[in-house]
Parts: sequence; structure tokens; C-alpha cells
Amino acid sequence: MTMAHEITPEVKMLCDEVERFIREQVEPRSRAIEENDAIPSDLMQLTREMGLFGLTIPEEYGGSGLNLVGKCAIEEVMGHTNYGFATLIGNHTGISTTGITSLGNAVQKKKYLPKMASGEWIGGFALTEPQAGSDPAAMLTTAVRKGDRYILNGEKIYITNASVAQVFTVMAITDKSKGVKGISAFIVDRGIPGFSIGKNELKMGMHGCSTAPLAFTDCEIPAENLLGAEGMGYVQALKTLTAGRVTVSARCCGMMDKLISRTAEYMKTRTQGGKRLADHQGLQWMLADMAIARDAARGLTQRAIATLMAGGRGTMEASTAKVYSTEALGRVVDAAVQIHGGMGYMREVGIETTFRDARIVRIYEGSSEIQRNIIAGLLLKDD
Ligand SMILES: Cc1cc2nc3c(=O)[nH]c(=O)nc-3n(C[C@H](O)[C@H](O)[C@H](O)COP(=O)(O)OP(=O)(O)OC[C@H]3O[C@@H](n4cnc5c(N)ncnc54)[C@H](O)[C@@H]3O)c2cc1C
Repeated sequence: MTMAHEITPEVKMLCDEVERFIREQVEPRSRAIEENDAIPSDLMQLTREMGLFGLTIPEEYGGSGLNLVGKCAIEEVMGHTNYGFATLIGNHTGISTTGITSLGNAVQKKKYLPKMASGEWIGGFALTEPQAGSDPAAMLTTAVRKGDRYILNGEKIYITNASVAQVFTVMAITDKSKGVKGISAFIVDRGIPGFSIGKNELKMGMHGCSTAPLAFTDCEIPAENLLGAEGMGYVQALKTLTAGRVTVSARCCGMMDKLISRTAEYMKTRTQGGKRLADHQGLQWMLADMAIARDAARGLTQRAIATLMAGGRGTMEASTAKVYSTEALGRVVDAAVQIHGGMGYMREVGIETTFRDARIVRIYEGSSEIQRNIIAGLLLKDD
């Protein structure tokens, strides 16, 4: 097995700073974020000042230039706090900026990245459509070249950060006859004529992080907003999602860490039947299983990171890590609720919030079923 890269002292220091920021600034506001389904504007400002929006953007554009090792280390830390907040940042510093950092030309980078690094402009990534979810190749959104413009028509749904984003990476068909090789990626600015953002969806969890549909009606964008060459959109989306799946796995490991330490703490303080929960062997074994699941998830996540860092495609490793870590989180949070008893069901305690938040990770960035399809497809591929 390829081993993971070491975390540098700089990344370790950054993780410590983020950990402190979460403890001092995010956690005290977490209940309010959950209840109001919004990130307070003062926290957004503090987050900008902290530099969290620029984590993965190259230093020359004002960011911290973290690679996948650093990004995943931060995701683990972010797994310890409000899920909506972590997703807003994780999406912006992941799938919503990757298109520009990897495919963007010098002009595009100079125009967008400094403002995205400072958090003045937040990013969104728009692939999914009403009839094209697990099968994004079934998309219908078109971008037709007309002189020095492209005309976009179509709809996107479930777009993370849509209500607050200024810059969207949008996938659209430029040449239907070429199938997935006719899908291209574009930078689309909020507020341009013909581009509208629908109302924020009410969701089971992930409160504080918006999810909304986008609509393009004869929406004209400058041809220079094409990312890379025509036809590179689908391959880029798949690459983006492969790395995205690893970062989701890393966040799940952080979430499991927190659930395990909270549950262990509770087991030491709660007494039933004349002894602490910690002294009931059945519960000890549940706690042990939680830790085993977390450690296995972390191992698979580290393997996927190492494969991608070594220049491998990492498709199998990323899908394996994602399906395992997200399902492990489901089991761990369920056990955490169970061990907390009635307390685990109470909103105020917060385990219930994680129970709802955790449900999304098996659906977005490729569902568990799609990850299994990918893994089986690779195993059954003819040489
Ligand atoms: C909160 C949230 C945020 C999101 N953020 C974004 C975003 O920022 N950008 C973006 O582009 N998209 C985003 N999505 C979309 C997300 O990626 C899709 O919801 C997901 O890929 C599943 O697509 P679907 O909802 O259309 O489900 P469907 O594709 O209709 O799937 C329904 C069920 O069938 C299963 N299924 C489908 N096809 C197969 C198959 N071939 N084999 C076996 N089982 C199958 C699925 O696993 C699932 O269980 C978000 C979704 C949510 C809920």
C-alpha cells in the first residue's frame, strides 16, 4: 500500500490555528447556524480574515496553496465543527475552485483567484441537473458559440453555496455529437442577464450551507470564460470529484473522531444500573467498533491521498475511501445516538444534528451505489 505523505510543520500549525478558530468562533455560533440555516455575517467576515477561503488557492494569488495532503488535514479538523460551515468552506476550497486553479488561463486566474482567496467571491460547482444526477452525462444544458460569446440554456439543481456564490463553474454541452467529450466547463458570474438562482432548499441537515437551483435562459457569457479547451469539462469534473471524494472521506474521519471522544466522555459520566456506562461491556464494544471504523476509514483515505499525490488516477482508491468512510460515519453516529440514550435524541446535545448532517455524505459527490459501480467496473474491466 502506498503510504501517505507527512504533514508538514506549516500544515500542522495551520491545523492548530483552524482548530482554535473553530473552538472560539464557530462552535459558540453553531446552534444559531443550525436553527437559522445561515452563517452569521460576522462569522463570514472572521473566516475571511482567518484566510480559510484561500486554503487551496496558490500563494501567488493570495491563498495558502495547500495540496491534497494539507486540504485533507484541514478537512479532518473541520469535521469537528458545524457541518454547514465546514461544507461551505470545503466546497469553495475544493470542487468550486479546482476548475479555475487547474484549467484556468493566466487571465482567468488573475481575475478570479485573488477575490476567491480572500472570500470576497465565493464559488459554486454546477454539474447536476433534474434528469442528470448519478448520470451527469445525461445533462441537457447547452452552451452554443456565437461570435465571441457562448449562449447558455438549461437548469442545474442542488448547487451548494448557490445563494452566496459569486462565481460558478458550470458544465454544459458544446457539441452533442461528441457525447461526454462534448461537455465543456465555464466560469459564470452571478448577476449576469439570463442567469437566475432559485430559492434555497430546506434540507434535512447541512444547515447554514445553501443549496439552490440555477437557471440559464439565453444567458450570454464571454467566450473567454471557457475553462481549458472545449470538451474538457467532463474529464475535469471527474478529476475534481475524485479528489473531492477523498476530502469528503477526510471530513468523515474528523466527524467520527469527535463522536467517539464525546461518546467516551459521556460513558464515563453517566451511571446506570449502579455502574458507569463505561463499565458496561456491551457499550465498550460499541465504542471499540466506532474506533475501528474510524481507523479503517482513515487508512483508506490516506491510501487515496497517497495515490493521487504520487500522480496516480486514484479512481478506485477514492471511491473505496468514500464509500467506506461515509458508511462508517453512518454506523458511528448511529451508535453515538444509541449510547447517549434519550440524550442522543435531544436537539440541544448536538449528536442528533450530526445524525442528520451525516446522511448527505452517502449521496453527494457520487452516491454509495455509484462508488460501488466504479469499483466493480474497474475490477471487471477486460485487460
Ligand atoms: C445537499 C446536496 C448538495 C449537493 N451539491 C451539489 C453541488 O454543489 N453541485 C452539483 O453539481 N451537485 C450537487 N448535488 C447533487 C448530488 O451530487 C446528486 O444529488 C447525486 O449525485 C445523486 O443524484 P440524484 O439526486 O439525481 O439521484 P439519482 O441519480 O436519481 O439516484 C437515485 C438513487 O438511485 C441510485 N442510482 C442511480 N443510478 C444508479 C446506478 N447506475 N446503479 C445503482 N444505483 C443507482 C442512487 O445511488 C440513488 O440511491 C448535491 C446534492 C445534495 C442533496
